[in-house]
Amino acid sequence: MTFREFGFDDRIVEAISYMGFEKATPIQEQAIPQILKGRDLIACAQTGTGKTAAFMLPLLHQLTVEPHDGTSTLVVVPTRELAIQIDQQIQGFAYFIPVSSTAIYGGGSGSEWETQKKALISADVIIATPGKLISHINMGNVKFNKVRHLILDEADRMLDMGFYDDIMKIIAALPKNRQTLMFSATMPAKMRQLAKKNLSDPFEVTLAISKPSEKVQQAAYLVNDQHKIKLINELIRDKPNFDSIIVFSSTKKAVNEIVRGLSNKEYLVEGISSDLEQNKREEILNRFRAKKTRVVVATDVLSRGIDIKDISLVINYNVPGDGEDYVHRIGRTARADASGMAITLINEDEMYKFAGIEKLIGNEVNKIQLPPHIGVSPEWNTSRSTRGNRSRGPVRPGQKEVRKTGDNRPKAEGQEKKIFKKRRRPPGASKPKTE
Ligand code: AMP
Repeated sequence: MTFREFGFDDRIVEAISYMGFEKATPIQEQAIPQILKGRDLIACAQTGTGKTAAFMLPLLHQLTVEPHDGTSTLVVVPTRELAIQIDQQIQGFAYFIPVSSTAIYGGGSGSEWETQKKALISADVIIATPGKLISHINMGNVKFNKVRHLILDEADRMLDMGFYDDIMKIIAALPKNRQTLMFSATMPAKMRQLAKKNLSDPFEVTLAISKPSEKVQQAAYLVNDQHKIKLINELIRDKPNFDSIIVFSSTKKAVNEIVRGLSNKEYLVEGISSDLEQNKREEILNRFRAKKTRVVVATDVLSRGIDIKDISLVINYNVPGDGEDYVHRIGRTARADASGMAITLINEDEMYKFAGIEKLIGNEVNKIQLPPHIGVSPEWNTSRSTRGNRSRGPVRPGQKEVRKTGDNRPKAEGQEKKIFKKRRRPPGASKPKTE
């Protein structure tokens, strides 16, 4: 189905074609007609399916049909990265129409707070993380009386991060007469409860829950920790045409150690975790998008929702905490119209956990033995290991192994900063930049 067939305003169709989208993705085909009809919606869709366009295009079209005074649309998201990402997509979609958008997230100085206050009042579309938005609501800075559309994106992630009460508080500040759209990769019971309380007769779209895109070629190595760095170095060197590689680590501490282990003179390797200042994180992401940096090592703060195009290879240094994290991590590759590869490194203690993930995704991942010059693979044995949730840093040969349990969830918004942006870039830039 083409975008013209949805009946969108010509200026929106033109912007979409500048962005290189030719056909609607399945989530777009299913969700857009319902959103245009004004229905509430629950959509179970993984990242990379085109869900942002699925909710934003019909709402932008509505704004061309019925011009609006004040904020019409509020998008609530779990992390600052996702807020920026959505804002950038909106800037592209809305390039030829007079609609402004603003991403608001935590942190920042007093003067920034004032800028945010103004932005909250004037922007047509606000994309915000819950904590920061609540602060503004508490200070009486928001004027949400004209909001017609609420989108809860990555809703399961927000619940995981403990935002249930904040979301309820935000909803209480909105008009009752509105359209509510909820997007989530999974549908746990608490999500159902949230939907039941806040959505009215929602249309449901379910796209292959918790299954990675078929375009991702998945493989796993059975490898103990002391051989992981050597293996990754070899994997990366053997694949010269893979120019954008993400290595996901479960802990922040391990990120630096992995970066050190992978650094070399031939290409740039950089690390990113929630310990870094926001502007530093954005600089690193920009270099990665521009392909100046070949390898980024990241905690899973990057694994959800953030759109970096053309990732050729995702390497899981550890087996992710659960199946959903796995799907999200490998969802970094094979975005809407590309294919990619995901390799997971499994040590003895993680086999049981990985078997659980395979069950969830409904397929067995090919397990590869270590090349003998690197070391000996542990034997695949899921009954032996039951201590699935470990997260460990790299252990070099001869180094005593210290085990740690790490919380790899993105931190809530304590250290967040905000941005306030108007449209300022033409659509079609194939690699959106953070600004
Ligand atoms: P999302 O699931 O919203 O994170 O989108 C994932 C990626 O797919 C983004 O890079 C979008 O720009 C891209 N995308 C969304 N819709 C389409 C489409 N219909 N055709 C091609 N790419 C798309």
